[in-house]
Amino acid sequence: MNATGAIAAAVVPAAGRGERLGPGAPKALRDLGGVPLLVHAVRALTRSRAVGLVVVAAPADGVAEVVALLDSHGLEGKDIRVVAGGDTRQESVRLGLAAIPAEVGIVLVHDAARPLVPVEVVDAVASAVRAGAEAVVPAVPLADTVKRVEPVPGGPEPVLDTPDRATLRAVQTPQGFRRDTLAEVHAKALAEESAGSGGALPPVTDDAGLVERFGGRVVVVPGHEEAFKVTRPLDLVLAEAVLARRRAADAY
Ligand code: C5P
Repeated sequence: MNATGAIAAAVVPAAGRGERLGPGAPKALRDLGGVPLLVHAVRALTRSRAVGLVVVAAPADGVAEVVALLDSHGLEGKDIRVVAGGDTRQESVRLGLAAIPAEVGIVLVHDAARPLVPVEVVDAVASAVRAGAEAVVPAVPLADTVKRVEPVPGGPEPVLDTPDRATLRAVQTPQGFRRDTLAEVHAKALAEESAGSGGALPPVTDDAGLVERFGGRVVVVPGHEEAFKVTRPLDLVLAEAVLARRRAADAY
């Protein structure tokens, strides 16, 4: 399918428990400035003129709750659908993708846990796919030096080596794909899983990683420091501060 000129659909995997954030509601439903993380994330996508449809993969037992939540936060005007997510992020994305109409040629995948992604990043990812890339990830340089270690629970962990920081990027979402590419790598990963193969390979933690695993070409565009993922309690503190600054600046 030719992705050129097409409007994109976005899949938002939001079915995780988010245990690293501490006990409480599923992560996507946690409060940020009076609004659930998921609502922020969906709004961030709907602000982009490149996005015509958002499919949310909700916890399987929380579909009705998520529908009600999105309705109650006034997300009208754009096409938003909610499907039941799966046991893994990968499965949730696959189920979301299956709900996108066949004529949609560009798919973005955006974590509900990245509520504050600026619209410029969404636009940049979609236009890079429109311009011909099969897989696009937004990313930022690393502040910390990174070491590869031999994992030892509780440590100390022997250091194996130190990659050159200048060649490393921290990858964010939304990640953008030609729809046929994304569907193909998800189908291959599922087939691999069913066959019990692929177990010796490192786990794939993002969709672009699946494209890489099956020999596709992924390119990086500039991400944004405010597109960070809310994973730990401190991330929520930072997100509250960013949101407060935006609200003060422009009645966000
Ligand atoms: O756990 P992590 O922060 O890596 O999750 C990334 C995203 O994947 C989150 O938005 C989470 O809700 C989603 N996810 C999902 N289905 C799962 C596990 C995670 O949709 N079974």
